[in-house]
Amino acid sequence: MEQIYTIPVNEAFEKGQQDESRGCPFCRLRRMLELNELDLILGASMMEPDVRQKTNEQGFCPDHYTKMMQRGKRLPLSLILQSHLAEVDKMLKKPGLAPALSGAESAKKLKGLSEDCYICGRVESNFEKMMGTAALLWESDPDFKYKCMAQPYFCLPHFAQYVAAAKARMKGKTFADFYKSVYKLEERVLADRQDKIDRFVKSFDYRYSKEPWDDAKTAIEQVMPVLNGTDCLDDE
Ligand SMILES: [Zn+2]
Ligand SMILES: [Zn+2]
Repeated sequence: MEQIYTIPVNEAFEKGQQDESRGCPFCRLRRMLELNELDLILGASMMEPDVRQKTNEQGFCPDHYTKMMQRGKRLPLSLILQSHLAEVDKMLKKPGLAPALSGAESAKKLKGLSEDCYICGRVESNFEKMMGTAALLWESDPDFKYKCMAQPYFCLPHFAQYVAAAKARMKGKTFADFYKSVYKLEERVLADRQDKIDRFVKSFDYRYSKEPWDDAKTAIEQVMPVLNGTDCLDDE
């Protein structure tokens, strides 16, 4: 199951190995999955009855409505919205229940609807499989261990997710080796960002005005993607 992701996972890690500016490889993989889902839902999948049934029931989160609008495909999006609105209407018109019960039921369903998103669901489920693949590769492919160590960084949410995926698959000693290795990368990156932000803060102090700040000028921009990951990527 997870083997279908061996090639994209390897490719993302190879790109990260060659280019420091590419950031967290998992952010790029997630973005790739998301772009793929956006293409599908506004293209080939849009008219498939089983997919439409799901989008009618689940709808989309605000972020994905915005991203769909930005693609400019207004007719497919209108068709999706047309049948989704009809489904919401059906949901609100639950016949046969006393008004008090019916109102509570509708509110519950609407709350569920506002927390659901067809694209988030698909991306999340495939991304988990990619994480599993990356853990499997670390265990089975010695080259992948080197690729892993040569990444610019893992953003902290994906670092935590990768560690959890590895823990679920690896035995004690293997997991200990894995953690030691990825932690070493993360420790180095966090120390680097700490140093840059320290120097950036110092740059506001006139006593240090003669010190060179070049690589600390963008300290904030360099810290944030490590803490939270990044959504805007240009290479896929
Ligand atoms: Zn990430
Ligand atoms: Zn979403």
